Amino acid sequence: MARTMPGVRLVAAALVAAGGLGCGGASAPATSPAVAPTAAATPSAVVEVPLPAAASEAALLDAVFRVDVERAEVVFDVYPADRRVQAQAAVTFRMRPGQTRPIFHLEAARSPGLSLRLNGETLDPARASDVRLLTYAGSGQLSLELQRDLAAGTLHRLEAGYPLPFTDAGGRYFTDVNDIDGRGNETLFPALNTPHELAHHVLVLRVHAAEPYVAVGSGRLTPRIAGDVQEWVLDTGREVAAYTVMFHLAPARSHAVAERRIGDVEVRVLAPIGGVSAEEAFGTLEPWLAELGTALGPFPMPNGLDVVLTQGGGGMEYYGATTTSLRALRHEVFHMYYACSTVARTYRDSWWDEAITMWYELSTDATFAAIAEDFRSDMVSGRSAVAVGFDRRAYDQGARIIQALAVETGGRARMVAFLRDLHRRRSFDPFTTWDLADEFAAWSGSDVHERFQRWLYQSPGAAAATPSASDWRHRVDLTLPIP
Ligand SMILES: [Zn+2]
Repeated sequence: MARTMPGVRLVAAALVAAGGLGCGGASAPATSPAVAPTAAATPSAVVEVPLPAAASEAALLDAVFRVDVERAEVVFDVYPADRRVQAQAAVTFRMRPGQTRPIFHLEAARSPGLSLRLNGETLDPARASDVRLLTYAGSGQLSLELQRDLAAGTLHRLEAGYPLPFTDAGGRYFTDVNDIDGRGNETLFPALNTPHELAHHVLVLRVHAAEPYVAVGSGRLTPRIAGDVQEWVLDTGREVAAYTVMFHLAPARSHAVAERRIGDVEVRVLAPIGGVSAEEAFGTLEPWLAELGTALGPFPMPNGLDVVLTQGGGGMEYYGATTTSLRALRHEVFHMYYACSTVARTYRDSWWDEAITMWYELSTDATFAAIAEDFRSDMVSGRSAVAVGFDRRAYDQGARIIQALAVETGGRARMVAFLRDLHRRRSFDPFTTWDLADEFAAWSGSDVHERFQRWLYQSPGAAAATPSASDWRHRVDLTLPIP
């Protein structure tokens, strides 16, 4: 039974506030003539909904996420001088098995400037018979449920227009994903914020500014001349998880882009002028890309790697892109193989991409210890399959679990060979923690199910997460260098 809870509204408000530098915060006023906000539009109350009963995890994911997105096209009109952005999205999708009523994650669902059209029909965001805002208990995600029952098998189309805040003092506009917190790109466009939902993304970034801008992003950006608008097209060229799509626009007075071909990989580095230089990033990347190519196979993204270089802190990985410090650069680039192309099915499963990424570097130290046989945690079972974010013990105990697998299979080189084979066969084929156990068993002949049960699926409270020495890695710091 659905019910309205005041506490849930607080949850949704917190989600909005967590949007970060570039794309969060309170809604900007809708001033664009392209939008026709409803006169009486008031944000609907958020209804908390219990998780549906489901026979399997796959059935639960279908019941909660409801749709399979095929393509997301979004045009962002960015007005830095007015400190506002207007977005227009068109998303094509099919209903998942057994589902009729579509859901999208969209932070702007609460914006009074939201306009919606579903299969050509205008919906009123303020009318309960058109739209409902809900959150599934334990998911941490605000969902926009469109009150129409759609046919199975055919493609449907959602169009949404909405204003977005522009908050960066440096004039930049960018994606700001945090996978530990579970914040994806629903801050910017209608999406499903779960790793297994892959879609082809085409974003058009239009900067309305007198001063020149530079830009980088997933899949390489194509600049276009469009009158006095500076325009770039981002095309992922394939289906990817929405939260792995990155773009970063910055004024050319403060930022520059440098390009270099390293082996077969075209690399572009956007760096603030006067800070850590692109040259330093290339110096790190030259040996690292060569090593990863040898160890794990060809670089997974055909259009290369785009890097936003920050002055400190950690980083965030995206499809063919990263926003990162020099210190975290190697880590984030490893994620191109594990996280951005070999993909977990759910957020809670994504402990393994973090653990594998950490393990690869930590295990070069011959004294790196495997997890104790009697270690117990609820690293996976402690969260719902529909919850956002993952357990930060992945960085430490998770990496030691991977080390235990490496010891089991005969050492680091054998484990790297397993990871290379797994990446080759399972790229863009999202899989769970139990699938990883099955894959490892098939490769090594060792059944690790009982150990995985102990290490990852004990009942809640088996071993509380503690602050990690790796916490700096997932705090992106976009502070500009002092001139
Ligand atoms: Zn990481």
